[in-house]
Amino acid sequence: NAYRKLLEENRKLYNQVQDLKGNIRVYCRVKPFPKTQSDQRSTVDHIGENGEILIANPQKQGKDGRKIFTFNKIFGPSASQSEVFADTQPMIRSVMDGYNVCIFAYGQTGSGKTYTMSGPDVTAEETWGVNYRSLNDLFEISQTRADSITYDVKVQMIEIYNEQVRDLLMTDEIRNNSHVNGLNIPDANIVPVKCAQDVLDLMKVGQRNRAVGSTALNERSSRSHSVLTVHVQGKEVISGSTLRGCLHLVDLAGSERVDKSEATGERLIEAKHINKSLSALGDVISALAQKSSHVPYRNSKLTQVLQDALGGQAKTLMFVHVNPETDSFSETMSTLKFAERVATIELGAARANK
Ligand code: ADP
Repeated sequence: NAYRKLLEENRKLYNQVQDLKGNIRVYCRVKPFPKTQSDQRSTVDHIGENGEILIANPQKQGKDGRKIFTFNKIFGPSASQSEVFADTQPMIRSVMDGYNVCIFAYGQTGSGKTYTMSGPDVTAEETWGVNYRSLNDLFEISQTRADSITYDVKVQMIEIYNEQVRDLLMTDEIRNNSHVNGLNIPDANIVPVKCAQDVLDLMKVGQRNRAVGSTALNERSSRSHSVLTVHVQGKEVISGSTLRGCLHLVDLAGSERVDKSEATGERLIEAKHINKSLSALGDVISALAQKSSHVPYRNSKLTQVLQDALGGQAKTLMFVHVNPETDSFSETMSTLKFAERVATIELGAARANK
């Protein structure tokens, strides 16, 4: 009897852990090793079949230079954009059934966040990233369901820089065509869209606005978080009942640690804000993963803005990006340690918070 009880207990915990994992997933993507660096070796020593990745520093012997991490899935350097999207698609589709979904791209600058989210070339469909593929998918679903559910889709786009939220769609042309009514972003324009192309056009406007006030877009975009939010409202034709879902596509600021002794002035202020908001995000996801009774949403603008889409029935996917170059070894280790902290849901943690 005692044995059976123990088994049942374990099964319950196991299911609980599986449930949690169903709502929070972490995928790791490794950028291809540059051909020009033939004198160096990749720090990614091995990728296993069950989500394991072994990181090893070719220049450092001993256990400090090696570590295995485990995530829901690892995409190696040869993974295509469509393979990456195939494992993201079910989550995206659930937005049309009324779920809130957050997709994050995390990693040091140059590790492939933009590649995963936007893709390198808008004109080449096979290179499209998660953003474009998701939008196409949402509108396709809307069309196939048109007889039973009518959908309204609206978009917001903001940037968070030094803990300040800036609306990237605040132009006169757009303001005339929209009304203001956001989730936790009350002041940001929300713009109705009819097709994926409308959203792509808005994203271009957003990108242009993002560049304003900064010396170079790349610099600015690596030090601010950008959030593209797609709000979906569906109305069942027969019953008239409604559902609401939203998708947040979040390109996070570069996670690289700035040398405090070298950074001064604006650079130091930026670094502090980035550090604070990324660790606040890590704290929130890890609290949710462990079903902690207190989730510290209020510690950063990013987690405040996304509060409704983090936790509860909402689904979270984080792509962590690895640059396999030897020089990036210590950044890679800290990136993966961060990801491990948000991803690892141990039986012990589930038990402690039961
Ligand atoms: P981040 O947004 O993290 O700063 P990028 O997405 O701009 O990084 O990537 C840096 C460079 O590496 C770009 O030239 C990009 O095209 C290239 N790159 C990144 N990931 C991949 C990949 N999976 N396959 C091929 N090239 C990649």
